[in-house]
Amino acid sequence: MEKKLVVAIDGPAGAGKSTAAQLAAKKLGYTYIDTGAMYRAVAWLTLQQGKPVSDALILSVLPGIDVDLCYSDGKTTVSVNGTDITKEIRTPEVSKIVSQVARLGPVREKMVELQRKMAARGGVLMDGRDIATAVLPNADVKIFLTASIEERAKRRWKEMQEKGYAMSLEALQKDIAARDKADMEREISPLRQAEDAILLDTTGLSIDEVVDRILALCA
Ligand code: C5P
Repeated sequence: MEKKLVVAIDGPAGAGKSTAAQLAAKKLGYTYIDTGAMYRAVAWLTLQQGKPVSDALILSVLPGIDVDLCYSDGKTTVSVNGTDITKEIRTPEVSKIVSQVARLGPVREKMVELQRKMAARGGVLMDGRDIATAVLPNADVKIFLTASIEERAKRRWKEMQEKGYAMSLEALQKDIAARDKADMEREISPLRQAEDAILLDTTGLSIDEVVDRILALCA
């Protein structure tokens, strides 16, 4: 039997990681793990408290949170304490605070522990910001997926339009740039390309082309 690989995919917001990784995982018969969804789940539960967002508020929801990711049939379902919040974690409100949530040490410790458990059996494709550098430094394949900021903003804008959120492309590009900056400049596990990761620039590539390149790297 073929060896079941552990594949780490990192990169900035809107680079097409989750769409491509999800499709590649389906073709490989692997499990896809969307680690961004886990940080978004903590952000969502923080907003549910209906209080001004602070580090203390974020840390107060942490002990009581049970995040579960279920990948089946090429789709991921995210739940928190048994409630399906797959759609709720993609709102602009969650996107706005998620980097603040993800920079906190205790949040990362809890999520990374879960992520490592999920990857333990192999046959996984995990995407995020620190997978190759911190979560799974011994991954068999490491890919750093990126694209120009203009293209990333356009892709996210289209996605948001389809979901019915009216946002200007300009505002969205600003939000993405701010999130990338926060993710790259934070103290713990900042976003960066691992030394042994392969750079895949998806600017101008179709989703199918990106999936094919990922599959080729896993062959
Ligand atoms: O991938 P996505 O854009 O949904 O990630 C949302 C946020 O979660 C990122 O902007 C980042 O702040 C955080 N994140 C992280 N580490 C990961 C995955 C996501 O800090 N491995």
